[in-house]
This record gives sequence, C-alpha cells and structure tokens, in this order.
Amino acid sequence: MSIETRIEYSKSLKVLSTFGIGGDARQFITIHTIEEMGEIRKYVSKEKIPFWVIGKGSNSLFDDRGFDGLVILNKIDFIEFDKGKLHVGAGTSFSLLGAKMARKGWGGLEFASGIPGSVGGAIYMNAGANGMETCDHLSAVGFIDEAGNFIEKKKMDLAFSYRTSSFHEGDKMIVSGRFELEKREEAREKQLKIIEYRTATQPYGEKSAGCIFRNPQGGSAGALIEACGLKGKKIGGAEVSTLHANFIVNRGDATAQDVLELATVIRETIREKTGTELEMEVHKIPFRLGEHVPS
Ligand SMILES: Cc1cc2nc3c(=O)[nH]c(=O)nc-3n(C[C@H](O)[C@H](O)[C@H](O)COP(=O)(O)OP(=O)(O)OC[C@H]3O[C@@H](n4cnc5c(N)ncnc54)[C@H](O)[C@@H]3O)c2cc1C
Repeated sequence: MSIETRIEYSKSLKVLSTFGIGGDARQFITIHTIEEMGEIRKYVSKEKIPFWVIGKGSNSLFDDRGFDGLVILNKIDFIEFDKGKLHVGAGTSFSLLGAKMARKGWGGLEFASGIPGSVGGAIYMNAGANGMETCDHLSAVGFIDEAGNFIEKKKMDLAFSYRTSSFHEGDKMIVSGRFELEKREEAREKQLKIIEYRTATQPYGEKSAGCIFRNPQGGSAGALIEACGLKGKKIGGAEVSTLHANFIVNRGDATAQDVLELATVIRETIREKTGTELEMEVHKIPFRLGEHVPS
C-alpha cells in the first residue's frame, strides 16, 4: 500500500497542540517509521505539496484557519539503550525518556522530565531547562533530507544554541537521535526535584505552549512581564498565567488571534517600560507556507 493512501483530510489541529488552538489541516498523516518518513518526503516533493512536521505540538501555535497543506505527525517511537549509549526515535516522548533514564541511574536528560515535547521537537528547538540543553549529551541526529534520503550527522557537524538548531534552515525531518549518558547515582533524585519544581512554578495542567518568549540576553522574560504588572492580563480566551508570567494560557476558547494580540501587548509594554525587545519562542505556523504571521 503506497503511503499517500493513508493521508486523511480535514484534521483538527486543536487536538494536535498543547495550546488546543487551530483550525483544520487540509491533509494529515501519522508516520511510524524512518522508512515511512522517507517515502512521504519523496511523495510531497513529487506532488509539490506544502507540509509541516510536528511532534507533540507543545511549542506550536497553529493558525485559526488551520494549515493549507499536509501536517505530518511524527510518531517514530523506539528506545535502544546499551551502557549509556542511547538511540531513540524522534517521536519518542522527551519527558518520559528523561524520567526513564534517570530511574535507571543514568544522567544527562533529567531536565527533560516535564518538557512535554518529542525528541525530534527537543532537538529542533534545543529544548532546555535547569541550565541543561538537549545538545549537551546529544552525539548524533538522524534525519530525512530534502531528497528523501536518511542521513545521520554527528553533533559536531550541526549547530545548536539557545532554543535553536541548524534544523531551522531547510526542510529536514528529524527521525532519530543518539545521546551519550553518564552513570549518575543521584539522577533519579535530581529528576524528581526538577518535576516537583516545574509543577509548582508552571501552569502545568493548563493549555499552553510553554514559554511564549525567549529570555533576553542575561535576563528573564517572565520576570520582566511580571514586573510590568501583566500577570492575569487577558485578551479573549488568552491570559498571561498568574503562576508564571512567561506562559500564555488558553482559558478554553482562545484563538490564535487572541494569543498573538496578547503577545503584542506584552512586547509593546516591555519595550516601552524597559527598552527590552522580546522575541517569540513559540512557533507560529502559518496557514500557507511563506505567508507572514503577525507577532
Ligand atoms: C507546560 C510546558 C512546559 C514546557 N517547558 C519547556 C522547557 O522547560 N524547556 C523548553 O525548552 N521547552 C519547554 N516547552 C516547550 C516544548 O515542550 C519544547 O520546545 C519541545 O521541545 C517541543 O517539542 P514538540 O515535539 O512538542 O515540538 P512541536 O511543537 O511539535 O514542533 C515545534 C517545532 O519543531 C519542529 N519539529 C518538531 N518535530 C520535528 C521533526 N521530527 N523534524 C523536524 N522538525 C520538527 C516543528 O516543525 C516546529 O517548528 C514547554 C511546553 C509546555 C506546554
């Protein structure tokens, strides 16, 4: 059966993002293996279909009109582990991976516990917390290139910095990652402390996409937003969290427009009062590729 026969139509993007926001994707497919990802890449290139790859949708803000193309949900989920060397599918839960490794007494991914993304999303974003980043213990990344071929590159041949990676350039689909972990007796204790702190300081059970803004150089976006009195500020169904000021939460019926308008108010207020320019961390996914998304 060829891969295109599995494509679905009119899929709600609300259920594919932790924000719970977005219209429908014109087309949608779930991918379970590296081979399938290669096949779908060849198909979209041949048919010239615009596409967008997602993992857990925990750093994504979909457009209220949806996505005018194919949304590819990465569910390549496997874990191979031997003496500190970890090889995982990019659709694996990053949070569960961090907890699982820490429980076995292996350190390096304790910070991942509670980051509700996929391994692929974490590599793409170079997700981080508690002074640690995804790239710290990463040794290689497997991806499907623009021609549909599987390639594995060592970390030294890729670029990572604060919440970004070389995967932001081009249309590569991350399918696997390799990490080198170290035996650490206190790994489990550290991971439990991280999750405890996270649930106490972040609106964990609410609909959000994590921190809405990147931290400015040497500072904290959350502290600036709180100091400017914006906690609890609301536009439509979108609200600045009263627990953590760098989170915008969906109170149930928020639209992408509400979130973007609230983000604009925050940016303008911070600019006027402190002179600091905040940049969005959450990815705004346009309705049509190439279309400008206001921020
Ligand atoms: C409650 C909460 C807490 C959070 N805490 C943190 C935190 O402490 N630190 C932190 O860094 N982030 C945090 N986040 C944000 C988010 O979880 C991370 O950025 C995560 O790494 C995103 O992974 P994802 O699979 O959900 O990505 P998605 O939202 O699915 O995608 C994000 C971007 O990555 C791209 N992408 C995803 N998978 C692939 C792939 N396989 N190949 C190519 N491109 C891909 C997408 O196209 C998109 O542009 C938090 C979010 C929430 C909701």
